[in-house]
Amino acid sequence: MARLDPLLEVQSFDLQADRLGEQRAGLPERQALTACTAEIANNDRLQAGARERRDDLARREREVAGEVSTVAAGAKDVEGRLYSGEVTAPKELGTLQEELRLAREKQAGLEERELEIMEEVEAQEADLRRLAGLRSEADTQNEALRAAIGDAEKKIDAELEVLATQRETPLATLPPDFVETYTTLRGKPKLAGKAAVHLRAGLCEGCRVSLPRVDLSRMLAEPEEALIRCPHCTRLLVR
Ligand SMILES: [Zn+2]
Repeated sequence: MARLDPLLEVQSFDLQADRLGEQRAGLPERQALTACTAEIANNDRLQAGARERRDDLARREREVAGEVSTVAAGAKDVEGRLYSGEVTAPKELGTLQEELRLAREKQAGLEERELEIMEEVEAQEADLRRLAGLRSEADTQNEALRAAIGDAEKKIDAELEVLATQRETPLATLPPDFVETYTTLRGKPKLAGKAAVHLRAGLCEGCRVSLPRVDLSRMLAEPEEALIRCPHCTRLLVR
């Protein structure tokens, strides 16, 4: 086994950890949860709107009910005078009769309006019940998604922990400057996590570029534990 093979071993654990990390971040339930959260926010907005309309209508209904009472009281008053026996002049009786007819007509109109408003209130109430039902479903789904994400994360984290332990053994055999360079290179996005690669037949297996003969002979002359890097992609080369 070459002196630096453990570096590739460490890297293979790290690459597995990368994949698990991607899996953890890209859990399909996360997208579903985002959609579900948006649905809940939208539902809240719709419920607030429906509640406001319902309250406005209820207020209007009370106003119309008040008007009905006023008009009914007026009509009763006119009726009282009409049948009191105190008014006997035909012309005056006619005026009172007309006044009563108009009041009753107005009352009927207002009562009809009141009924219409009550129906509108009921429609808003029904809409609120429907929205509350949807909200409750969304809450249940939200909870289930959170639980599923939690379970998946726990499972992945356990696997990550195993990998972290496994990498300790090969890591301990490596010179600190290698580990340091390796860690720095691992952080470079363009290397896609592959900081160390084999150098085989003069070819860097990271970028697939053949090293110039002069570089190659200089590298191969270096002691085995020397830190050599691809002049093209900067990766650590394992001979
Ligand atoms: Zn290279």
